[in-house]
Amino acid sequence: MVTTPTSDQPFHSLISTSLATPALRADRWVSVLSVARKWAEQDSPSVRESLTKALQDLEEIERFFAYPGQALLENLKHWLTENDAKNFLRLSQRISGTIVSKKYHRDVTAWNLDDQEDDTFNRLPQAITHQKNTPYFEVLSVVPHAPSRWRLIQEEVRGVRRAEDDFVYQTVVVGNAQDALTGILLNPDIGAVVLSEGFASQGGDKNPLLEVFNSIIDFEASSKDDEILVLQVAQAIRKIRPELDIYLLSDRNIESLAGKPEVRFINRIFYQVEEPLELHLSILEGIRKRYRTPFFDNLKRYAQRPIATFHALPIARGKSVFTSNWISDMGEFYGPNLFLAESSATTGGLDSLLEPTGNIKEAQDKAAAAFGADHAFFVTNGTSTSNKMVLQALLAPGDIVILDRNCHKSHHYGCVLAGAQPYYVEAFPLVEYSMYGGVSIRTIKTALLTLKKLGELHRVKMVDLTNCTFDGHVYDTRRFMEECLAIKPDLVFLWDEAWFGFAHWSPLLRQRTGLGAAAIIEDALKQPEALQAWEEQQKLLGDNPTDEQLLDTRLVPDPRAVKLRVYQTNSVHKSMSALRQGSIVLVRDVDFAHVESQFHEAVFTHASTSPNLQIIASLDVARRQMELEGYGLVANALQISLEIRKHINSHPIISKYFKVLNSAEMIPDAYRASGLTDYNDADISWGKAVQSIRSDEFLLDPTRMTLFCGAAGFDGTTFKNILADKFNIQLNKTSRNSVLLQSNINNTRSDIALLIRVLLDISQDIEKKLQHDEDGYCRKFQSRITSLVDDLPDLPNFSRFDDRYRDDATTDALHGDIRRAFYDAYNEAECEYILLDSPDIDKRLKDGPVLVSANFVIPYPPGFPILVPGQVITQSIVDFMRKLDVKEIHGFNREAGFKLLKRTGQGGGA
Ligand SMILES: *Cc1c(COP(=O)(O)O)cnc(C)c1O
Repeated sequence: MVTTPTSDQPFHSLISTSLATPALRADRWVSVLSVARKWAEQDSPSVRESLTKALQDLEEIERFFAYPGQALLENLKHWLTENDAKNFLRLSQRISGTIVSKKYHRDVTAWNLDDQEDDTFNRLPQAITHQKNTPYFEVLSVVPHAPSRWRLIQEEVRGVRRAEDDFVYQTVVVGNAQDALTGILLNPDIGAVVLSEGFASQGGDKNPLLEVFNSIIDFEASSKDDEILVLQVAQAIRKIRPELDIYLLSDRNIESLAGKPEVRFINRIFYQVEEPLELHLSILEGIRKRYRTPFFDNLKRYAQRPIATFHALPIARGKSVFTSNWISDMGEFYGPNLFLAESSATTGGLDSLLEPTGNIKEAQDKAAAAFGADHAFFVTNGTSTSNKMVLQALLAPGDIVILDRNCHKSHHYGCVLAGAQPYYVEAFPLVEYSMYGGVSIRTIKTALLTLKKLGELHRVKMVDLTNCTFDGHVYDTRRFMEECLAIKPDLVFLWDEAWFGFAHWSPLLRQRTGLGAAAIIEDALKQPEALQAWEEQQKLLGDNPTDEQLLDTRLVPDPRAVKLRVYQTNSVHKSMSALRQGSIVLVRDVDFAHVESQFHEAVFTHASTSPNLQIIASLDVARRQMELEGYGLVANALQISLEIRKHINSHPIISKYFKVLNSAEMIPDAYRASGLTDYNDADISWGKAVQSIRSDEFLLDPTRMTLFCGAAGFDGTTFKNILADKFNIQLNKTSRNSVLLQSNINNTRSDIALLIRVLLDISQDIEKKLQHDEDGYCRKFQSRITSLVDDLPDLPNFSRFDDRYRDDATTDALHGDIRRAFYDAYNEAECEYILLDSPDIDKRLKDGPVLVSANFVIPYPPGFPILVPGQVITQSIVDFMRKLDVKEIHGFNREAGFKLLKRTGQGGGA
């Protein structure tokens, strides 16, 4: 049974292990290798004893993997019994190297029992090895048979392989439900599951890892009734890895099963006596379905055909490039396929992104299914465009949208374009690091209740939030939506998940995505308990609950009233293998039929009529990759980030000058009810781990690592440039005293090593300089740190729109007509400028007339709009701007000063 590592691996906590389950295997190999090395250097009974123990720990994991398989492991044990340290080390290095490089996916010799011996037991069939690049996966077979028969089952499966198979797989056999679930958590190669009815539910010991998942994802697999157990296991598998195909072998009348709703979790049911070949073909067909990339496949075919072009795209087919005297190097650089795959036509089966009916439509439908949405729309101009499309499609002039002031530009501009009035809400500030977190549920509820009191709730159409934020704050999307829906049951949610698309392939993070939560809410509202809970809450709150009561209560919506309308935008290029600007809009909206035509208008407004075919293809391919290997890739990205956090924060020298901020530093206590402080805290209790992921108001995305560099005397921008110029390490975001590192699906362990080495170099350099203290280095160093760490400007909140941009200036409602302000500024004569350092500002702040910004002012960092068009400039904004020492401030020119809107009449003055 899998136990989570404890004392001998002090860095790992239950929660970090749960976030990156497949990492457990690598850990076990690291232990075996390190003891084996010791043994090869010096033999001693105690070393051999710990090796025996490490090997046992390894074996309890390895049984969930086809490679290296029992025979190779037996060989390993053989060298231990034979007392042959050299051969033991050699073989264990070979196996672990093969696992890391995934050589067993492609190369049949990796399966050989020994370097010389040519054993055929585990071999892939010869015919298949001749076909280069036959993709490899593993099938988990859950059976009632005794372990002595398992080997036979594996051989039987190998027996039905055919030379023409387009994929090849090996079988992993387990004997009970618990092991089945453990297997799909641990082994990312598993692509399909075969459940043979009659297997047991428990394997014996408790499995703490499964218990964590069980409590967080809420699955059950314990029934004594075979039929129910099978369905429970299928459902649990879907909750953990929804992309997997599940086949059921049953030897009784399958009609009784067919009537149960849970049967939808199963791809196909077979009579146990049916042909094994049928099952084999179904398994391959299931993989082929995910592998198929309708647009990309067609584009490749298109590129092969001889086509004469008479449309407007000279570069298509590459003739203008390859025959040119002057630009043929472009052709050499990109190769011919890029040009063969370019076209401006929508003929030749290329389909049209603006009006898809063929393979683009099919590719989008596949993406929708993969992401758990009802509809998906490919966007080739980035999520900047996706956001504007959604805002325009769903908001009309005058509608109110509750908007995080700190969100990406595209939302603010989207409001200007749509004429929607933003009601800005503030994220909690992290003043020490000059950045913002997320918007608390209390803040959103306060906004909704304020608008309700003003009789404006009917105008509120949307809540628009960023999940996760740039710095990694992940919302409790379920709670946010449920509480908002309790106040207004038809609200639309736009979750900007530009960074967070990968989260769908993490079983634990998925529920914290907009769509993941939508699926859970949809299910929950169907249960009779939902109405009961609402009725009980109504009783408790009475007829006239006060705002305070409503704010203090975890509200539940009335299931009969709710219309679940969730939109999620996603920069596929930021976390998956799409080309830059590849983005997607995902929809789960019960009312979509009513807004579909508006949605298409919005697409037509914003999309280019010449969409880039390569970007569309890459969106198609990115979906394929995530459905077939996303689980392992995401687990790897999570593991790498957890390792980086651990190494930096525990390194004796590096940690003096640098640290990766943990949950406690990035999220105030109030939003962390579990009390979880750090993913690598080895003492985290099971309850804390579960509570944290399940219900903390905010959670930190481990892959987004804020590296605090202020204590090393660097501001974020300087440090970013040092890393880029001297060490070829690129990162994108900085704050005054930090930089943001990010791990994603392309990172490897060598990236960790490089980063650690560089930070150590820099730390040692600082140490040396501090020791020598030339030219008063120590004093200067100290004062730099003080200015970076202690002397930080308060982050100014959104002040308010000027009265003339507000519908009713007598109330304290925050929304305003940003669009009118934006266009008022087009009239130059009505604008004036005022210098930041001019005493006039101070005078006008004191005596009026009020200063009203004519445009957006967005400093980088921190990257949020200090001012939006029509916003009143206050003392704290001026103070912040005066203290700000960044070079890049969009919409502000130091020589000219603030651009202001002149007239300041009361109400509707324009
Ligand atoms: C990057 C980003 C966008 C814009 O996405 P692009 O694909 O770069 O256009 C929108 N929102 C957030 C939160 C982002 O980080």
